[in-house]
This record gives sequence, C-alpha cells and structure tokens, in this order.
Amino acid sequence: MRKPILLFLLFIPLLLTAQRTILHCGRLIDVVKGTVLTEQSIIIEGNKISDIQKGYINAKANDKVIDLKNLTVMPGLIDCHVHMEHETGPNRYLEAFTLNPADYAFQSVVFSNRTLMAGFTSVRDLGGSGVNISLRNAINKKMIVGPRVFTAGKSIATTGGHADPTNGFRKDLQGDPGPAAGVANGPDECRKAVRQRYKDGSDLIKITASGGVLSVAKSGENPQFTEDEIKAIVETAKDYGFKVAAHCHGAEAMKRAVRGGVNSIEHGTYMDDEVISLMKQYGTYLVPTIIAGKSVADSAKKPGFYPDLVTPKALAIGPKIQGTFAKAYKEGVKIAFGTDAGVYAHGKNWLEFVYMTEAGMPMMKAIQAATVSAADLIGVYDQLGSIEKGKLADIIAVDGDPEQDATVMGKVIFVMKDGVVYKK
Ligand SMILES: [Zn+2]
Repeated sequence: MRKPILLFLLFIPLLLTAQRTILHCGRLIDVVKGTVLTEQSIIIEGNKISDIQKGYINAKANDKVIDLKNLTVMPGLIDCHVHMEHETGPNRYLEAFTLNPADYAFQSVVFSNRTLMAGFTSVRDLGGSGVNISLRNAINKKMIVGPRVFTAGKSIATTGGHADPTNGFRKDLQGDPGPAAGVANGPDECRKAVRQRYKDGSDLIKITASGGVLSVAKSGENPQFTEDEIKAIVETAKDYGFKVAAHCHGAEAMKRAVRGGVNSIEHGTYMDDEVISLMKQYGTYLVPTIIAGKSVADSAKKPGFYPDLVTPKALAIGPKIQGTFAKAYKEGVKIAFGTDAGVYAHGKNWLEFVYMTEAGMPMMKAIQAATVSAADLIGVYDQLGSIEKGKLADIIAVDGDPEQDATVMGKVIFVMKDGVVYKK
C-alpha cells in the first residue's frame, strides 16, 4: 500500500508547476528604453510575463519553448483609432438601409480576426452602432478571435454633426435623434449622452468636435460643439473613468477640444501653431490616421465612389494629414498610433508605420507610439504596451528588422495575446 502513495507524492510538485511558455527571441525590442536586445528569453506563466532573461534559457520538463530566434520580437501593437463594425466601399452609404445589426456583427468577426493576425493585439474602437460593445464582450469571453477592444460604443455628435446617424437621409427618415442615439445639444444633453454610453457599456467617449470627411454634410472642418458642451462631456466622463477622444479636422474645433480637456485629437488636419502649443501645454495626444487620409483621397478619385458632398472634402483633407503629422511630431506633440481602420481595409494598419517614418519619425519612435504611448493614452500602461515582468503577455514577432525596412511591420509571423498563441 505504501509504495503507490509515495510515488504519488513524488509527482505532486510536477502537477503543481503550471506549464510555462518560453520565447527564445533573436532580437527583442525594449520599447521603454528604445533599444534592441539580442538573444533573450521571455517567460510566460498563464496570461502574464513572469520574467525576461538574457540568453536562450533551458526548458524544464513541463515548459513549452517557442523558437523566435530569427525574428524581431516586440509588444503587441495597439491601434488607437479603428472602427471594427465596417469597412469602406462604394456601398457604404446604402448599407445604412440594407444591413442589420447581425450583418455588422458577423463582418466585425472577420475584421477582428484580420486585425489580430496583423499583430494588433489591442484596439480602441472609436465609434459604431453599439455592435462594437457586443464584439468586445464576445472576444473577452473567447467566443471569437480578435484584439482586446476598448470601445466608445456610439460616437457623440451635435445635430447634423459628423456622427449624427441620420445625416443625408430624406426628411421622413431623419427623425430627431437625441442623446440615446449619440446626438446631443447643450451641456445637459451632453451629460446625458455620456451617461448613456456608461449604461451601454462603453469604455471611453468619442466626440466629433468638427465636421468630417465621410459624413454627408458640407463642411469637413467647422466646429460642431461649443466649449461649454465639450467641458460638460469631459467633466461627466471623468465621473465614469472615461477618457475622451475628439475627432477634429478644423483648428477652432481643436482649440475648443484641447481647452475643454479631451485626451486625444484624432486626425488634426488643419492644426495651426496655436493648437500645437495648446496640445503641448495640456499634454493632449495626436492620433494621426495618415493612412485614412491617403485612402479617402485615392477613393475620391474613383467616379461615384463617394456622394457629391463627400468627394471634395476627401480630396482636400486626405492628402494633408501626413504633413500635419510631420509638423506636430517635429514640434514635440505627443503621438499615439492610430489609423481609422474601416475607412481603409482592416489588417493593413501596419502601413501607417511606413507613412509615419516617411514623414520623418524614426521607426523606434513609431513603434513606441503604437505600444508605450498608445497604452498610456488608453490608460492601461500598467498592464500593456511593453514587455516587462508582471504585464499581460501580448507579444508579436516580425520577420526582419523594421528599423532597416518599414514594410517588415507587415510581416507578422507570431502573435500571442493574453498568453495564448494565435499565430505561429
Ligand atoms: Zn474614425
């Protein structure tokens, strides 16, 4: 009788050591210091990074080793501006009348998968119908595969503003959408619109502080909220722990938004010197979305792709964004990586790295914008945005040296999210 019991006791320590995953990394980007280390081992236990050690450490009996010796390893990338529910196309405007929420849900599953496989392990969804909230929940429950989603739910606009969901509709279909539908006028309605997002389950607030390119409305840059309204939104958002992202193309809208206390300016096209100094003074991030600008300008050249009101805006605003980014970066404005995916094809987010470096930002800084800075903007830097002991195991690897060739960011070979390998 004694022998089997003794044997069993011998095996207990083995049973108690959970399986560790060890990544042997040929090159490892330290995004905190902005340096590249060689021949490192990352040790993962559960969903967390438990250690980083020099050299290729030996595995214990229970360990799983993954060979990334020929690759460049870095933290999972974070895109601070995506729209997971849809993707651009000539039918976009008609789809408001032909697609059901279930259609948006199914297509968002495909886009989520594509985004994660492209190495983006976290995204900030800056506006949809609310399907984006269900999408986040389904991904968190591991029912479908996708990045971590931090979602604004429905964007908040003023009547006729960039995110008024009935813009361009004929009169009997327009109705008079209010705070529940993300349309608010005056500080009281603005507060109500924020509280509705809390009720809906949003993670943050998105406002459309100026006109935009793709809405069926004349101006792509006019200010669309008063400073009082923006202050009411930001103040209320703080009660719920929400950050506020402001879509802005025009300078006046940016001044109001920055003074109103928003955390990020999205696009920032017509930023002037006063906006730049205000953003530096308030510590406001710019989320550039250069790829979206280039993509809408290209699409606008195809006859009939956009409605007549949209085409001239796309041609005027689109090509300017890269130049604005170059200036803002040079002047020292804080930059967080974001692309407006959905306005162009999901999964091509990496092209933004090409455009950022083209505009004069070194690749290491661009990678930091998509890791350290993006996590800081979202408010999750204690858990994400770098490969450090105790952080969540969101790790990717690319084939080549991105500092030598920016297109390497499109060659993602390995993706781990929350300690689970999704691509290898
Ligand atoms: Zn957007």
